[in-house]
Amino acid sequence: MSSRPRGALYRPPSSADVGRLLRDAAVELAVAMDAAAVVEALDRAVARLTPPGSSYEVRIALPEDLVTGSAYQPGQGEATPLVPITVDVRDVGQVGILLVDHASAAQPRLRCALEALSAQAAQAIQRIRLAEEVSRHRNLHQIETLLDQTGDVVLILDGQSRIRYASPSAGTVFGTSALRDVRLLDFIDAKQRAAAEFLLRHVRSGGAGPRTGRADWTIRSVDGSTPLVEVCCRQLWPDESGQEVALTLRDVTAQRRLEHELTERKFHDQLTGLPNRALLVERTEHAIATSAGITAILLIDIDDFGSVNDTFGHAVGDQVLTMAGRRLLDAVGPAGVVARVSGDEFAALIRDVDTAADVEQTADRICHELAAPIRTSIGTVVVCSASVGIATTLRAGSAQELLRNANLALHSARSAGAGRWRRYEPSMTDRLRQSQLRSALAHAVDEGALRLEYQPIVALATRRAVGCEALLRWQHPTRGRLLPGEFIDIAEESGLIVPIGEWVLATAMATAMRWCAEAADRAPYVSVNVSAQQFRSDGFVETVRRLLAQTGLPTRRLVLEITESLFLRDDDKVWDALRLLRGDGVRIAIDDFGTGYSALGYLRQTPLDIVKLDRLFVGGLDTSRRQRDLVEGIVRLTRTLGLDAVAEGIETEQQLHLAAATGCAYGQGYLFSAPMAPSETLRWLSAGHGVAPS
Ligand code: C2E
Ligand code: MG
Ligand code: MG
Repeated sequence: MSSRPRGALYRPPSSADVGRLLRDAAVELAVAMDAAAVVEALDRAVARLTPPGSSYEVRIALPEDLVTGSAYQPGQGEATPLVPITVDVRDVGQVGILLVDHASAAQPRLRCALEALSAQAAQAIQRIRLAEEVSRHRNLHQIETLLDQTGDVVLILDGQSRIRYASPSAGTVFGTSALRDVRLLDFIDAKQRAAAEFLLRHVRSGGAGPRTGRADWTIRSVDGSTPLVEVCCRQLWPDESGQEVALTLRDVTAQRRLEHELTERKFHDQLTGLPNRALLVERTEHAIATSAGITAILLIDIDDFGSVNDTFGHAVGDQVLTMAGRRLLDAVGPAGVVARVSGDEFAALIRDVDTAADVEQTADRICHELAAPIRTSIGTVVVCSASVGIATTLRAGSAQELLRNANLALHSARSAGAGRWRRYEPSMTDRLRQSQLRSALAHAVDEGALRLEYQPIVALATRRAVGCEALLRWQHPTRGRLLPGEFIDIAEESGLIVPIGEWVLATAMATAMRWCAEAADRAPYVSVNVSAQQFRSDGFVETVRRLLAQTGLPTRRLVLEITESLFLRDDDKVWDALRLLRGDGVRIAIDDFGTGYSALGYLRQTPLDIVKLDRLFVGGLDTSRRQRDLVEGIVRLTRTLGLDAVAEGIETEQQLHLAAATGCAYGQGYLFSAPMAPSETLRWLSAGHGVAPS
């Protein structure tokens, strides 16, 4: 309520004044964009019209507001109730726009001016409302067409979350189309109501931009069904009071059921209903991350399950697996997780254990439980046993590592015999690596993964090559280039050295033939390492002879390097082979001399041509006088026996001089060249390092 300051001089406005005043007000009202601007313009005009001290109130009271009672009501004890000045506006009806005191209302000229003002204001209000209505309808229409197309249900809620509008398809979700003025929350499952209310409040509280929200609600439909809907809500008129909310509902019952089924299927085994490997891994990772104590995995394999299937059929097999799953659950207890990880393999996850012994007790229980006879529904009694592999976080940091360790332990348990458990030991990993390496090596020759490099053997006096040693390399599929130290032992143990050795011989001889083609009689010989096992294998001599014939390599161009271990056993076969090959003209070198069982005596008896002094001797030449004397002694002996000496591992100029000073004529080592690929060897040989013309 406004009133003018008392005591100010009041002169009733002349007709001209009133006319000017009404014109000014008309302009202001014509540009008013909202109700507040109308009230402001009106307030200014009334203040100028009415006498000082008179009471008035500017209130916009549209017909529906009058009905709802928001129009002026005289307050309790109010002496002079204000008189409403109402106007009739076309299409809108009677509009109460001004409330003035009796004195003002009683003055005819003043009343007339106030009515005119009131009518102008009513028109402005009508214009503003109309514009709003138009834009509102346009938006509603857009939303409707949009959502009718997608088949979604559209609801518009008022400030009390009552449904003001429901699109035609709403009936399919709510079981009725009589939705107007119904409270939406009454349709939502009681458990979700609070969350739904919260969501709507959040959307309504939007500030500058419109707020949105999303949720899944279960609807209690009138027809008794309970569809699950995905709801998107959005503030409808963000620039206004923001209380109206638009909702889109999509029935996702079938979709969610399918999703649930898929996750179930993805994480559970269909037969036993137990978690599968994927879920086990997830639970294990979680256990490792959150457990204060030891986390353990036990892998359980039903021994010889294949024969259960073969003997009794798959139906019985399935029952045995289901029973085994149940017994495992009993043995592990409610704190653990039992999973079926593959056909007849189960796993148990135990967390927060104090000691490894506790885990082993569980393994005992498992072995015991699964050894009890299983009676199937058709009366068959099946007796099984289980092997168990145990791994704990004492030796593993991740779920994958635990599973891998448990698997190794299970292998070990299986090979120890049925019905036992084994704890993982790090040596199992070594054995696994070896066996993986062995199986990869088995394919190396066929897959073309083996290569030879060549390292020159030079005359120390001239530094020119007299021969080249073939050195084996393996391009491993995952580990890259491997040196012989990493796989020769495995090749020997597994017997693979025989085919590999044959490949080496054939390849080295073919390469040496190329050197012959390049330099004829000045070409270096090729020196090939032959392991004792290969040498002893049946038909070794024949193989060498065949390859010599096939490649056409002159026998003098082939040197076979053997180690002292070949003479460990007094084996006639070895001696015969050596004599035969030497008889053909192939030369024999004793490799790494001085590291093994060096009895100088056998140098005298053995059919030999070359002695390769181990690089340990060469390494000691520049540090130890005794070493020099020893090497000198050996070299003198070899010369007496008519053998050539090669010093291995010459890396420095000083070692070269000292080796030469002992009387040793030949040498090999990084000082001259590291082992090279065949093409590089050819380049090296033709760059002046090749055999000096004799
Ligand atoms: P090895 O026959 O004594 O070959 C010499 C080894 O010493 C080679 O190692 C070579 O790279 C390395 N070497 C050469 N010069 C120097 C040097 O100045 N300093 C040092 N520190 N080392 C040098 P690689 O190639 O790793 O071969 C190791 C062993 O593997 C060979 O020793 C040989 O016993 C065996 N081997 C290589 N190829 C074959 C093969 O085809 N068959 C068989 N059975 N064994 C092979
Ligand atoms: Mg060698
Ligand atoms: Mg050697």
